[in-house]
Amino acid sequence: MTENRFKRVLLKVGGESMMGKREYGIDPQAALEVAKQIKDVYTQHVQVAVVIGGGNIFRGLAGEKLGIERATADYMGMLATVMNGLALQDALEKVGVPTRMQSALLMPAVCESFIRRKAIRHMEKGRVVILAAGTGVPYVTTDTGASLHALELKCDVLMKATKVDAIYDKDPAKNKDARRFKTLSCKDAIKMAGVEVMDTAALAMCSENNMPLMVFELFKEGNLTKAISGEDIGTYVGNEVKTEYA
Ligand code: UDP
Repeated sequence: MTENRFKRVLLKVGGESMMGKREYGIDPQAALEVAKQIKDVYTQHVQVAVVIGGGNIFRGLAGEKLGIERATADYMGMLATVMNGLALQDALEKVGVPTRMQSALLMPAVCESFIRRKAIRHMEKGRVVILAAGTGVPYVTTDTGASLHALELKCDVLMKATKVDAIYDKDPAKNKDARRFKTLSCKDAIKMAGVEVMDTAALAMCSENNMPLMVFELFKEGNLTKAISGEDIGTYVGNEVKTEYA
């Protein structure tokens, strides 16, 4: 068995990963696919915490456009992440992975509340920890929740699993000449407004605290395992690297 590069990882899974081919909501089959990828790394004794998004159900900004007060809409978005968290917990348990779910919004009838030391202990005991409700406060997204939790849980890396295989200099869906980055310095990543890497607040937090970030495609089989063993997939963002195209 090859030595893994990372021992404890924070995996950010966007809500859309739970949607499969549907246009909205949760497809249990897609949740199972996500769960299987997590199981692959879990069986290699890598400690995993998952921050789950809610974009497949509700985003605060979209709610605001419909006329709902922003903070209220954001709380609705956080509740959406709890629904996804439960679906992911169900899927993980179906594939035989023990889990605990913790929420940044208190919901004692549904799951544990987020307690940093307890989350660490769960991982040490071989449980995958699902972290719902992001930071528990409005005006930010689960990306910020992911960088915050990656830092406080002392993870080696923040892995952002997306539908795109890496970070590009332009949207690859709209631009045929879009170029893929192999590495990206945090400074450049923050400067590149319009390139969807992560929220600026989340990126700034990673940069200020030296938390490396990997962006890669989740639905390519084996990708998460490859990322964890240090294979060059997706884009690596860090303070210590220079920006280079693939
Ligand atoms: N949200 C929030 N605070 C947080 C995390 C999430 O207010 O700390 C709300 C926000 O409205 C966001 C929604 O929850 O749009 C769903 O999360 P997100 O958009 O990050 O989901 P993803 O894009 O990852 O699926």
